Amino acid sequence: MSNTKDKVVIITGASSGIGEATAKELASKGAKLVLAARREGRLQQLQKEIEKNDGKAIYKVTDVTSHEQMEELAEYALKEFGKIDVLVNNAGVMPHSFLFKKKIEDWDKMIDVNIKGVLYGIAAVLPTMREQKSGHIINLSSVAGHVVGAGSTVYAGTKFAVRAISEGLRKEEAGNNIRSTIISPGAVTSELIESITDMDLKPGIEEIYKGAIDAESIARAIAFAIEQPSDVAINEMLIRPTHQER
Ligand code: NDP
Repeated sequence: MSNTKDKVVIITGASSGIGEATAKELASKGAKLVLAARREGRLQQLQKEIEKNDGKAIYKVTDVTSHEQMEELAEYALKEFGKIDVLVNNAGVMPHSFLFKKKIEDWDKMIDVNIKGVLYGIAAVLPTMREQKSGHIINLSSVAGHVVGAGSTVYAGTKFAVRAISEGLRKEEAGNNIRSTIISPGAVTSELIESITDMDLKPGIEEIYKGAIDAESIARAIAFAIEQPSDVAINEMLIRPTHQER
């Protein structure tokens, strides 16, 4: 019997890329999905596609930078499905730039989405998971959560933070049977690099992304972590394209 079947899984950033691929992968394994992002049309389309393939999915338009909206998302999952087994804190933005360009708005956005969004997600599901005495929180970090490159300074700062938060979460909640997993992808084909506005950097990054792996590669890794028996926690996975050196 699959460990994924009938698990209630909330995915933030489900409207494209890794989030969307993960939703499809988990739906095919019988999970009940709660899809979240800001673009409603995309969520509707994904829900329809999952249902067409006999999967189960509902959605709620959610901005992860709003603590209130994240609480409402968790309440919606509970109301519709009666429990929350897994949260995939996947929403993220990556507007790389050099520090001297002073793209303060981009820095704020990365801190709000990549760090605060993850914290608000944890805050929204933790009381339920503690009460259930079970749960699994999966946070998307990055190779940039391990290695800092020129131009990726602030993004890397947010992804190092995601790893620190995940490790603290693991230590705090291990006794409550709550698993935590850090997923650190290398270059993956998605809409992520579209948010880069620094034109001195963008062409170089586009070149690197020509060798990117597909989002399904990361979806399979997330599904693997979820599928493990409850006494096994896959705490961290680094997944790069084979030829990616850094
Ligand atoms: P995409 O740009 O394709 O997806 C990002 C998702 O985040 C979208 O669904 C977007 O939905 C959502 N999002 C952005 N801002 C918000 C917000 N304020 N509230 C709610 N949702 C938001 O990129 P990826 O799929 O590649 O990224 C997924 C995660 O993987 C990110 O955390 C990223 O940092 C990480 N990652 C990706 C890598 C890659 O090479 N692609 C490498 C390493 C890590 P919407 O706009 O509809 O709200």
